[in-house]
Amino acid sequence: MNQTQATPQATNQKRILTGDRPTGKLHIGHLFGSLQQRVALQHQYQTFVLLADVQALTDHFHNPALVRENVLEVALDNLAVGLDPNVSRLVIQSQIPQIAELTVFFSNLVTLSRLQQNPTVKTEIAEKRSLFGESVTYGFLGYPVSQAADITIFDADLVPVGEDQLPQLEQTRELVRKFNSIYGKADGAGILKEPQIQLSATPRVRGLDGNSKMGKSLGNAVYLSDSSVTVGEKVLTALTDPLKARKTDPGRPEVCTVFSYHQMFSPNAPEIALECRSGARGCVDCKLQLARSINTQLEPIRQTRAFYQSRPKDVMDLVMEGTREAGAIAEVTLARVKEGLYLNYGFD
Ligand code: SF4
Repeated sequence: MNQTQATPQATNQKRILTGDRPTGKLHIGHLFGSLQQRVALQHQYQTFVLLADVQALTDHFHNPALVRENVLEVALDNLAVGLDPNVSRLVIQSQIPQIAELTVFFSNLVTLSRLQQNPTVKTEIAEKRSLFGESVTYGFLGYPVSQAADITIFDADLVPVGEDQLPQLEQTRELVRKFNSIYGKADGAGILKEPQIQLSATPRVRGLDGNSKMGKSLGNAVYLSDSSVTVGEKVLTALTDPLKARKTDPGRPEVCTVFSYHQMFSPNAPEIALECRSGARGCVDCKLQLARSINTQLEPIRQTRAFYQSRPKDVMDLVMEGTREAGAIAEVTLARVKEGLYLNYGFD
């Protein structure tokens, strides 16, 4: 692998911060929700992809080995879908200590009730309780604060998000405004950059079981790295219209999970809908066709993944190089932050 990385700081491009929690391999929900978008934008913006291992530990603190192992897996998934290591940077969150420092400073600026009101956090807490019966830790409740530090430490101009991440981003913007209003210069100049939000136009991808969310912890995902056989097996289990019992029964594609995937993977989705409604299409054939459509799109991704997977050391070198570059930016931002907080002691 011959990677000659361009230096992001040397360009005047605006910067994107995005990322993934390394709690498992990435799936087709990630592909449509964020990966395709970041790949499409990477030549227009300096792109930093955070491998958010510290954030992953907020709910996987009991299994740090899993998080560590998935840092490489998530890096592989990003490269597999077309993240270009010549222009984009993969960054390990835990190796940028400035993020943790900024998180501490931010945590004075947000109230507990504000964190508890965050609708996404509320939903996640309810899900966690129903799955594991656990009460919520301080770290988990505070992850939007650490996310705000992730974004602002790199002076990100733009953060592409899905709808469920909007409340977190609004919280980031609030924190930046509050921080700048208290610690900014007398002339009104801010210390931190307030990021813009780019909302993903893609609707959330349903789980195979019909759940409104495809999730690693929900056991209802098709992974980018699944083999063609596994994809076929999984698709056969996907939820269809429960009222369509026989092949000739008219179906309702609008309630069918299989059809929701056809809309993403099959160019002839409109005809599929017509055939379903008229009773001219059976669910088994429909699923077999879907498996072929998904495999057609995943095959090049699998091949690219296999290329990088056979070179794990090279991939980790890329990640460490990206992390070093990101660390240099974080250092500069934190120096500004500390100056604003009168914490810029000199011990020389
Ligand atoms: S025919 Fe296809 S679209 Fe219609 S209900 Fe069955 S699986 Fe869904």
